[in-house]
Amino acid sequence: MAQRGTAGWRLAHYGEPCRAPRQSVPFAGSSISVDARAATAFQALGILIQAEYGGTDSTQTGAYNCRKIGGTNTWSAHAWGLAVDVDWRLNPMRLPLTTVIPASLRAIKTRLKTVDTRVPVLRWGGSWRTPDPMHFEIIATPVEIAEGLELDGLSAAIQPKETPDMIKKGDHGPTVEWWQERLLAWQADSLPEYGADGDFGDETERAIRRFEAEQEINQRGVIDLVRGAALMAVTSDTPADLTKLFSSERTTRNLRRSAPLDDWPAD
Ligand SMILES: [Zn+2]
Repeated sequence: MAQRGTAGWRLAHYGEPCRAPRQSVPFAGSSISVDARAATAFQALGILIQAEYGGTDSTQTGAYNCRKIGGTNTWSAHAWGLAVDVDWRLNPMRLPLTTVIPASLRAIKTRLKTVDTRVPVLRWGGSWRTPDPMHFEIIATPVEIAEGLELDGLSAAIQPKETPDMIKKGDHGPTVEWWQERLLAWQADSLPEYGADGDFGDETERAIRRFEAEQEINQRGVIDLVRGAALMAVTSDTPADLTKLFSSERTTRNLRRSAPLDDWPAD
């Protein structure tokens, strides 16, 4: 078997380069095009980047690119949409290591794992012999990613068809209040009557549906990983508390069947 993370391994598990079904995902202020089967992993990385690094420069950040590795005849992970480059001017490929990626994100391999087989999902290019600190790439197979993902031991992968609602109408408490504050950061008049009162009622649902319409996400009126990531991407001025994002007891279920995310249009 080809070693994980090599072009041969990608060919075996993801098929031919430049042919994969792709999906756009929000990524800390940018929108990136990635292999749809790895979209949840990039969403989780985007949320971490947003919280621990800050917004990215969309003109300096990208994923899918049908190309070979510079100076070689080997296909790049970008040709499969299985790698993202973050702010390339600030994180150049060079020696010595030159980067603004914080230590917490450099350790992505130990932080984001599959639920059952505990396989690392992403690795960081800054630890290579010739450091490429802008670069994060997928090292788990589609089948492994479909198990569901754990971020720092908390279940992070929400497959819409399996666990449709992370937070929905009728819920109440500090997690609801936290998301209502995100809605207010998106549009100050989004909750005109009740504000961030910690009760998920009709007004909160209407606000989320307006947000979904604006972002061209399928309208469901709930907060799940897809909508949460999108909402955080557009309200990057506020620091994120990931424990609140992923602490819902509804997210602790193990997910075994693959269900493609249908929320983002393929490009
Ligand atoms: Zn790269």
